[in-house]
Amino acid sequence: MYEHVPENPYLLLTPGPLSTSAGVRDAMLRDWCTWDSDYNQGVVQRIRRQLVALATNQVDDYSAVLLQGSGTFSVEATIGSAVPREGRLLVIENGAYGARMLQIAEVLGISACVYRVPESEVPDARRVCQLLADDPHITHVALVHCETTTGILNPLAALAEVVKAAGKVLIVDAMSTFAGIRFDAGELGIDYLVSSANKCIQGVPGFAFVIARRAELQNCQHHARSLSLDLYAQWQDMDKDGKWRFTSPTHVVRACAQALDELAAEGGVAARQARYTENQRRLAEGMERLGFIPLIDRRWQSPIITAFLYPDDRFDFAEFYEQVKARGFVLYPGKISQAQTFRIGNIGEVYATDIDRLLLVIAEVRGAENFA
Ligand SMILES: *Cc1c(COP(=O)(O)O)cnc(C)c1O
Repeated sequence: MYEHVPENPYLLLTPGPLSTSAGVRDAMLRDWCTWDSDYNQGVVQRIRRQLVALATNQVDDYSAVLLQGSGTFSVEATIGSAVPREGRLLVIENGAYGARMLQIAEVLGISACVYRVPESEVPDARRVCQLLADDPHITHVALVHCETTTGILNPLAALAEVVKAAGKVLIVDAMSTFAGIRFDAGELGIDYLVSSANKCIQGVPGFAFVIARRAELQNCQHHARSLSLDLYAQWQDMDKDGKWRFTSPTHVVRACAQALDELAAEGGVAARQARYTENQRRLAEGMERLGFIPLIDRRWQSPIITAFLYPDDRFDFAEFYEQVKARGFVLYPGKISQAQTFRIGNIGEVYATDIDRLLLVIAEVRGAENFA
């Protein structure tokens, strides 16, 4: 384990890319050969096994496929490869990432429908059950675990249960929760779980991955609407010897390997979830004392990122952002249409002491003299 050296000018309180450890950044300082077994066996295949083990206890039934690009590329590869020509996709949407999945289906010419819920509310499993009963043509259901748009945590277990009871294939965008919130993909019946290297794994951006049920992946041959975003072809090649179909982002992959070792050293996902939960609790509690109201009801608030309403009409986020940045923290603008918000992420190499320092900075910027 490396000791954290605060050599960055500020801490990123954005939900990916996020602040990484010095160890993760150092891991990128040498070059790797994409066809040598040091890399393919020693790094790639090991990462794939580790990812599956993080996702589920049913390790023999699942396989991890790594894919170049940001998280969206893997979501697009999954939707484009999993849904056959005669298939139909139901997207459960309460934010920008759900909306993006619907857009992907539209661009790829995949038959799709949507169950849309207001951004600050969670989808209702009974409604999903009804929609599936009403439209027997639906073959696949896609949903977002934590809608990073608002930080709302959707009820994954309840939604998965009705989708599986109806016999549909389940695609979960767990981009911002995988490795940060515990759940077992096999137990929940998730067929495709999509996440990326630069969120709760705390690696750097450059690739994402899909942890999929082998039996489902087997069905995906010839489905892809794209040459490079073909999950089946990527899986077939990678499963042979760990070689990526096209040039792999070697340094980024090596950083991910280091990040996974650091996750284990921290105590695994349970320990990381506890740290994130404590970060978020302190953040929300402190911000409320400073007069900021969280957008999302406490029941549904994730331990990942929190959206706060602007405190008043005169609040100037751009100015606030610059003042906080000058004091060492980068915040995140809002992304929703229904209210004026900004967001603060608490994932990454971020600890309770960082949140405490942030709150003092915000108190200073807001002129809250009695805050301590
Ligand atoms: C980050 C994220 C994505 C992927 O976004 P990219 O910009 O493509 O990395 C998708 N879904 C959710 C919920 C996310 O948080």
